[in-house]
Amino acid sequence: MENEIKGVIFDWAGTTVDFGCFAPLKVFTEIFKNKGIDITIEEARLPMGMLKIDHVRAILSMPRISQLWSEKFGRDYNDGDVAELYSDFEPSLMKILPNYTDVLDGVLLVCKELRERGIKIGSTTGYTKEMMEVVADGATKQGYTPDCLVTADDVGSGRPYPFMIYRNMQNLGIYPPKCIIKVGDTVSDIKEGVNAGVWSVGVIVGSSEMGLTREEYSQLSDEQKMVLTRKITKTYFDAGADYVINNMAELPALIDEINKGLVPYLLLTPGPLTTTKTVKNAMLRDWCTWDSDYNNIIQKLRTDLINLATANPQNYTTVLMQGSGTFSVESVIGTAIPNNGKLLVLTNGAYGDRIAHIAETLKIQTIVQDSGETAPPDLSKLAKNLKANPDITHVAVVHCETTTGMLNDIEAIGKTVKEFGKIFIVDAMSSFGGIPMDIFNLKIDYLISSANKCVQGVPGFGFTIASKQELEKCKGNARSLSLDLYDQWKGMESGNGKWRYTSPTHVVKAFCQALKELELEGGVEARFKRYAENQKILAEGMKNLKFMPLLESHLQSPIITSFYYPENCNFTFFEFYNFIKNKGYVIYPGKISKAETFRIGNIGNVNRNDILGLLASIEAFLLTQ
Ligand SMILES: *Cc1c(COP(=O)(O)O)cnc(C)c1O
Repeated sequence: MENEIKGVIFDWAGTTVDFGCFAPLKVFTEIFKNKGIDITIEEARLPMGMLKIDHVRAILSMPRISQLWSEKFGRDYNDGDVAELYSDFEPSLMKILPNYTDVLDGVLLVCKELRERGIKIGSTTGYTKEMMEVVADGATKQGYTPDCLVTADDVGSGRPYPFMIYRNMQNLGIYPPKCIIKVGDTVSDIKEGVNAGVWSVGVIVGSSEMGLTREEYSQLSDEQKMVLTRKITKTYFDAGADYVINNMAELPALIDEINKGLVPYLLLTPGPLTTTKTVKNAMLRDWCTWDSDYNNIIQKLRTDLINLATANPQNYTTVLMQGSGTFSVESVIGTAIPNNGKLLVLTNGAYGDRIAHIAETLKIQTIVQDSGETAPPDLSKLAKNLKANPDITHVAVVHCETTTGMLNDIEAIGKTVKEFGKIFIVDAMSSFGGIPMDIFNLKIDYLISSANKCVQGVPGFGFTIASKQELEKCKGNARSLSLDLYDQWKGMESGNGKWRYTSPTHVVKAFCQALKELELEGGVEARFKRYAENQKILAEGMKNLKFMPLLESHLQSPIITSFYYPENCNFTFFEFYNFIKNKGYVIYPGKISKAETFRIGNIGNVNRNDILGLLASIEAFLLTQ
């Protein structure tokens, strides 16, 4: 229950009782008529939901009615007029009110279900305490009694102020606002919910916004109902509603949907991964891709990435590329290698294979040196290959092979590559930002990563940090228009950060926030320490539970770990996965061909307590076996 909906606060007339909210209407038109002023039903309805004396004032303040008043009385209306009209309103309403307490369809059933789920039921209203005595009494006789009823008399002011909701929360002992839903049927209801910071929900059938009797509503054609629904939905959303439901019966499903968002599972996967709330919040604003506000952000981001990659930034540049990480890999392979070039790919997993696959698809001459899924690249074989094939121009390797979790020794590989004077391409997708590295020291010419890995952003673009000198030679090489790394670079340089084609603005903003948070954490060193600790606790804990890792520990990265399926039990990954998912943790299936494995990532906004929680849920699973 910690992070789930704990209370629903209903409005009264038009929401839970009095279909169409008719009681006050007749009286409003009557009291104005007695003054010689004819107001329309629509005018009488517009302020519905407000405290009734405020409602009177709101009608008077409408330009047409203010005008009529001045003509009739030769002066503007004043507080005395409001009070006088209201003194007519109150007794008339009290007289007819007992006839307008019919409980709406579905309310009793929904309340029963809410109570079974332990969800409290509160209420607020535009009626006064005295009026509510009549209405609540009528509702109770039909079986509807909320746990709490607050009127404006209790808190001093009515809607759209949020105080009646706060008093409900206080009386019922329910908090925080994100665990509360307010349901109402007028614009002022919606605003009350918005102002309180709770989920503000509008209901359509029987609402004051709809303004029809049960009989009138039932006679509408489906087409007419649809048109009306659209119109009212728009009114609620314009007022700030979070959700709109057709009727009460839809409320339980809505609660389930909100709960899912409130209790998300932790992604123990290598990207997309669990991001912080602040990174997610950074996406809640729209940006113009053309405007300098946005492009300045891009230029800073490009510089920040170079500084993250090396202490010697002067000879490097960053090219951002739309799409997932693979798009950036393809842009490098397709642009860096000239027509007469030849690529050597060192592979020991699916991502190395993917580089080779890209090159072959682009009809680039390629040699693949495969060391198998559980062994590092053979350096002497690399030297032999480079010697035997002097026409090789480029060598590509994956840093952390996410297929298994193996960390390849890019320092040693880079040395050999450079001894032979070749251009060095590194897919550091799943390691950049999480493992300290300096592309200058490592002699990397192209380093590729993406937004949704160790920098802890959300998916949507990748980036290449490249040697300017090398990239400068790539004009006209590209085998694709949209994935032309050189053109994308030149476009960003000449356009001061403008992307050639629409850029993923929200993802970029989230990424900027993620970079800020990386710095706040203490930079790549601190993040590496956290990931390494996560991995250590995971590996030790799993060992205690008799799960064996796929890799020898000296090959293991701190990013993701592969484990063999356990022996001696009827283990199915599907059951295992669903069990721990229900406990709040999502893991990854295995990706290797030779053994049955699964993978657990420990990157993202994940710390030791999360890993301990995961281990506890795995232990609980084993007890069910
Ligand atoms: C995630 C990843 C990629 C890119 O995969 P996409 O699905 O295209 O984002 C490439 N290489 C490695 C090593 C990765 O971990």
